[in-house]
Amino acid sequence: MSTQFRADGSLRHLITLESLPRPLIERLLERAQGLVRPLGERPPVSRALAGCTVANLFTEPSTRTRVSFELAAKRLGADVVNLEVQLSSRVKGESMLDTVYTLQSLHVDALVIRDAETGVPATVAANVAPHVSVLSAGEAHVAHPTQGLLDALTVRQYKPRFDRLSIAIVGDIRHSRVARSAFHVFGTLGVADLRIVAPPVLMPEPTEFSGCTRHTSLESGLDGVDVVMMLRIQKERMAQIDLPDGDRYYASYGLTPERLALARPDAIVMHPQPMNRGIEIASEVADGPRSVIRDQVRNGVAVRMAVLNEVLAWRAGA
Ligand code: ASP
Repeated sequence: MSTQFRADGSLRHLITLESLPRPLIERLLERAQGLVRPLGERPPVSRALAGCTVANLFTEPSTRTRVSFELAAKRLGADVVNLEVQLSSRVKGESMLDTVYTLQSLHVDALVIRDAETGVPATVAANVAPHVSVLSAGEAHVAHPTQGLLDALTVRQYKPRFDRLSIAIVGDIRHSRVARSAFHVFGTLGVADLRIVAPPVLMPEPTEFSGCTRHTSLESGLDGVDVVMMLRIQKERMAQIDLPDGDRYYASYGLTPERLALARPDAIVMHPQPMNRGIEIASEVADGPRSVIRDQVRNGVAVRMAVLNEVLAWRAGA
């Protein structure tokens, strides 16, 4: 999406990682890495975005993404408003764009948007004033760009050579925005072997995920991989009738310690959360020594600081 960039080539919006240039991705990861601190240490804070205002506009539930965007903005000195959309005028029939124009009149500089409908971040981006940036915090099943970046940062901390990696993305690929953003970022970073593993009904269309190998057996999908990325079944994006039975799903696709043993001995396990323990992942694995799931959460704040800084730095200096 070329409209993510300003005329001078700088990043204005972040709506998808698809075709984002590799040097930009690497710069964002490098910057984010510099903002990561071990647990127990105080996180870095600055006044880089003092005077800027970031609005979180979430119409789907979120824990980690919303909180980490808020902390990221505050740690950069920006003001933050969190709009509880259920409570706001949208329930009175006000359109998303009217809400956005209201926020714009209140001098909001960046809108962080999560919505269950496809195309909302792009529509907002096409209609806001030139000084306003739009950051997707999860668009339907389509994209979750900051999640893709934090996933790449997490992998990089353990396995810095992407060109030598085998990564398996496992679960409800069909309905997953996390899988799509991972596919884009890992593709750009040159991951050697990217696999998608799912039961046939949760596989994406054949036109999607080109270049990935497809596995309907977890055993073959995990064989010798360096990274296992587990996904939640996106119940909210499926008709009741299509929902797989939890026990049967776990029997074939649950990541147990025995199945993890098929991956490389130093393989890492990821999950974007929320996790369904006992459905897609066993607690022993989620909480075990190979799990980097909590690192992903910590890295999320650093990545969102790097992104906010990238899109708003010009404004802070203006
Ligand atoms: N939190 C992630 C998302 O918003 C993953 C999930 O919900 O399963 O897409």
